[in-house]
Amino acid sequence: MSLNGIYDTDNIFAKIVRGEMPCVKVFEDEDTLAFMDVFPQSKGHMLVIPKKESARNLLDVNPDALAPILKTVQRVAHAMKTALSPDGIIITQFNGAPAGQTVFHLHFHIIPRYDNTGLGQHASGGMADMDELNAIAARIQSAL
Ligand code: 5GP
Repeated sequence: MSLNGIYDTDNIFAKIVRGEMPCVKVFEDEDTLAFMDVFPQSKGHMLVIPKKESARNLLDVNPDALAPILKTVQRVAHAMKTALSPDGIIITQFNGAPAGQTVFHLHFHIIPRYDNTGLGQHASGGMADMDELNAIAARIQSAL
């Protein structure tokens, strides 16, 4: 899918927002949801998505919706810093398949980096152990 296209209401993140698919939730408010990436590039990799926007990417979204999304991104990044003590945090997002996007519902990646630890492959690494994912989410939640 290129930068241009129609929002698919059956994409996986839309299903998570509707409660049709499970996720390991970290934080939720009226406008946004933060949850663990099940194919993490590092331990603690989170995603933040808007709940009400039918936007495939950053270019599509109503500009007025950006503030609550970025507020949640910053909030969970602070909690990640406190809970996991990473040495760095990547905050990024991709627009269009050629840029690396694989799920076409706007989302931000929050990826902790640890000294002397490589970064896993984007969207093609192994699936996380669910017990470990739940434990990491609980640690981040406790720091919110
Ligand atoms: P993108 O490639 O679109 O920037 O990022 C999509 C992200 O969603 C990837 O990092 C991928 O690991 C993650 N992902 C794909 N399917 C699922 C899923 O069913 N649940 C969760 N929590 N993450 C997913």
